[in-house]
Formats: sequence, C-alpha cells, structure tokens
Amino acid sequence: MCFSWLAVKKMAKSKQWSHLLPKGSQFIDGKLVSGDGDTHEVIYPATGEAFGTVHWAHDDEIAQAIDAAQKGYEIWRNTPLAERADILRETARLLREQNREIAELETLDTGKALQETLVVDIISGAQCLEYFAAQGAVQSGEQVSFSGEAGDWGYTRREPLGICVGIGAWNYPLQIACWKSAPALACGNAFIFKPAELTPYSALRLAQAYRDAGLPDGVFQVLQGDGAVGAKLVAHRQVAKVSLTGETATGTKILKSAADTIKNVTLELGGKSPLIIFEDADLDEAVGGAMLANFYSTGQVCSNATRVFVHEAIKDKFINKLVERTVALKIGDPMDEETQVGPLASAQHFKKVTAYLDDAPKQGKLLCGGEVPRIEGFEGGYWVRPMIVEVEDDRVPIAREEVFGPLLTLLTFSDEDDVVNRANATGYGLAAGIYTNDLTRAHRVIARLQAGTCWINAYNLTPIELPFGGYKQSGIGRENGKQAMDAYSQIKSVYVAMGPRVRTY
Ligand code: NDP
Repeated sequence: MCFSWLAVKKMAKSKQWSHLLPKGSQFIDGKLVSGDGDTHEVIYPATGEAFGTVHWAHDDEIAQAIDAAQKGYEIWRNTPLAERADILRETARLLREQNREIAELETLDTGKALQETLVVDIISGAQCLEYFAAQGAVQSGEQVSFSGEAGDWGYTRREPLGICVGIGAWNYPLQIACWKSAPALACGNAFIFKPAELTPYSALRLAQAYRDAGLPDGVFQVLQGDGAVGAKLVAHRQVAKVSLTGETATGTKILKSAADTIKNVTLELGGKSPLIIFEDADLDEAVGGAMLANFYSTGQVCSNATRVFVHEAIKDKFINKLVERTVALKIGDPMDEETQVGPLASAQHFKKVTAYLDDAPKQGKLLCGGEVPRIEGFEGGYWVRPMIVEVEDDRVPIAREEVFGPLLTLLTFSDEDDVVNRANATGYGLAAGIYTNDLTRAHRVIARLQAGTCWINAYNLTPIELPFGGYKQSGIGRENGKQAMDAYSQIKSVYVAMGPRVRTY
C-alpha cells in the first residue's frame, strides 16, 4: 500500500465526522444557537486540521443565558426530587445509548485514543448522573433538639444556591461537565458550563441529552469562549457559585474575582503527584500503575503521578520491565481501537511539553522515549513518544513542575521517612499512591502523605462514590461523593417555637 493512497484515505475519513457535530455553538434556553460571535476553528490534534468551527459567546448571549437560567431555576428548584432524579437517570441512559458517537467526538476534540474515550469519558459521566440522581432523591435536612423553652426545636433545610457556573479543562471535557453539573442539578440549581476553548463539542451533546430527558429550558446551558468569557461569568452578580477545573494560576484569578461578590468556589487544579513503590510491591502491578499514572490520555491527567519513587532494592528490575512495556505502547491513529497513545491536545501544548522533553536528558538519565514520531497520514499532529527519565536531584524542573504530558520522572529511595518527606516537598497536593504488600506500612504512609486523593496498590481510579480533590495549591473543595452535594447546596436553620415566649421586651 503506497503512502499517498493512505493519506488520501485518512483525509477522506476525517471528513466523515461532520454528522457528529452539534449544529450550533451555544446552548441557551433549551435550544442550540448557532451564534454570531467571533468564529474559531476546532482542530483535530491527530492531524492538526480543522474539523469544525464555533462562535464564542458575546455579551448579549451571556445575558440571555443568565436570564434563562434564572427562569429555569425557579421551575427546577420547585420540581419534586423524584422527578429531578428521573431526568438525571434518563440523561445517563441517553449518554450510554450514544456512547460511541460522543466518544468519537471526544476523540476528535481531544485527540485521546478512542480505546479510552469509549470506556471512560462518557460512561463515567453517565455513572455520575446516576449516582447524583440517587443522592438528590434522598437529600434531606435534620431535625434538631435543644434545651429551649417549652419544647422548642429546630430543623435544617438543604437548599440550592441558585445559578452555578462550571468552567472546564480540555482533558476530560464531558466527564468534567458531568462531574460539575450532575450534583448541581441534583440539588436544584441552574447550571451554565463553559468548556475549554479547545474542546467545545461534547458539552453541547450533554445539553441535548438533558433537554431530551425532560430538563426544563434554561436549567443547563453551554456558552463557548476563552478565559475572557469565563471571567465574565465568574464576575457576574447573579452567579452564586463557580467550579473550575484548570491550572493553579487560573484558580488564583477566579478566587480573586469571586471574592468581589463572595461566591462559593470549588477549584480542581494542577498537580505533581508522587507514586511510591516499596521493595515488597508486586512488580508487574506496580509497573502497570506507574504507566497508567503517566501515559494514560498521553499524560494529560491532573492526578498523574509524575514523580515515581522506586526502592533501591528493586530499581533495576522495575526499570527493565517499565521500559520494555513503555516502548511497546502503540501510538498512532486515535480512532483505531488498538491505539494506546494519541497526540497531545494542541499545538500550543505540544510546544510546552516538547520544551520539557528536549531539556529532560540534561536533567537526568534518559531511559526511553521523548522523540517526536512521524505517523503516516497524521504528519500534522502533535505527537510525542512516552518518555522516562531517571533523576538524582528532586529539585530539577521535570521533578518539580507540572508538564502535563507523557514524561515519567523516576527517582529512587531507601528510607520510608525520607521518601515521605520528599513526596510531600511540593506546593501541590492533588494525589498520591503507594505500592506495597505490607498492610500497616500502606496505611501509615498514606496517612502521612499530603494529598487529597490517594491509592494503595492502584492508581488513577476515580469511582464517583469517592470524593475527589486536592490539598494545598491543588484545589479547594471536593467533587464526587456525598461531599459534592454540600458543594452545591446551602443549609437553612429553622427555629420552631412551640409556645409563647417569656416576655423580655
Ligand atoms: P486552564 O486553567 O488554562 O483553563 C481551564 C479553563 O479556565 C478553560 O476553560 C479556560 O478557558 C478557563 N479560563 C482561563 N482563564 C480564565 C479566567 N481568568 N477566568 C475564568 N476562566 C478562565 O487549564 P487547561 O485547560 O490548560 O487544563 C490543564 C490544567 O487543568 C492542568 O493544570 C491540570 O492539572 C488541570 N486539571 C485539573 C484537574 C483536577 O481535577 N484537579 C483535572 C483536569 C485538569 P480557555 O480554554 O479558553 O483558556
């Protein structure tokens, strides 16, 4: 088969995706709106070619969305809990039914291998909707007794906040939209989502699914745009809460802006997480965990453990297995279900990550990878091969800074106290993991790690039932689990007098 024939075949194939694209840019007041704001191309990271265009929301559209959200909120907050739960469950059913189509769209937007988006991105969104349908249906306040006069007592009501805004990153667009909107809607809020500018489409598919499931108009809306659109939503007086997934620097800006109107804020930010592999670990499991923690989604996962600390006693064996399995990873056409590694998400991100990869061999010993491969038929894409570098000094940039690409930094240790201190020596605190078969050591070490989300003998598994979020500069608040219901509701305390007061006035 000659190359030019292949290239023609790939180009023809990329044109086949137009049926997946929603016919509009914003989703306002129950309708897809084509929009007339600035036009921006949407790029398939595997080819570097545009496969769609969206209009960014302008000020009138933001105002329309806020008005519609206010109206929708008045209806939704008074909708019976069981009815709300039915709508969330039906949305989940629709997402599952459309899994392949939305997964393909997600792969086009992000470049992530279809092998991943087919089993994780949309399915985890559906699981989230199902979980919060159940949580929302049983939410309640408390009856409170106290030693008041004449048997007075109190109770609490869990009430929604109002209009909530979600601002997403580009690595898990649909999952992020679900993690934020499902608990918000379960609590009776209205929700406006701004996707990352690189990945605008799947949130529109979610909006269509909510609408088709019976969600009242205005309760879930999507506005496209860059950070400036996000900033306008954050500053808006009628917005009660903002939840961001993004970089720590963006979190700082949002927190500052939200302070002006005393908004409730949840921040899911960056990380530089540690994975500690003790000498008694199951080696094959630990190697698999380290790979998952660095190369899944081409290394573009916030909770990734990019600092892998391996005990001296098993270092050589660990490295041999790790390198052997890493070089065998299949990189290429993201729509081929055999492919394990897709491209990076954008030209700009490629520039940032390759700058780190180019410099990495000067900071440690290169064990494998880091090249920019030429993939036939995908020459314009943003490809890098997963890289492993052994580092002796924890202070070098690749061991300290968030690269957000497939770069595993390997460090060694021989003492438990020392490795815990080194693992904690970062301003981030999103996640951490350990591999050991020593039961007491596992729990002892986890208790000492400064991270909000931890794993023992596993990595990067995020069931919806467990809260997710960071310590230190990795964030504020939690998504998922019952805690997310607290993040999207407020408690009203009610004092009930059972008889006349003793007159003091
Ligand atoms: P950014 O912080 O650049 O962007 C996140 C979102 O915020 C985007 O929608 C962006 O718009 C928007 N935004 C940017 N500036 C502002 C502003 N001033 N006001 C309001 N909104 C703004 O992050 P990335 O999209 O580059 O995502 C990568 C980062 O996200 C990494 O640091 C990663 O660790 C983190 N992340 C954290 C996760 C977690 O759960 N803790 C999960 C996934 C990623 P635009 O796209 O137009 O720039």
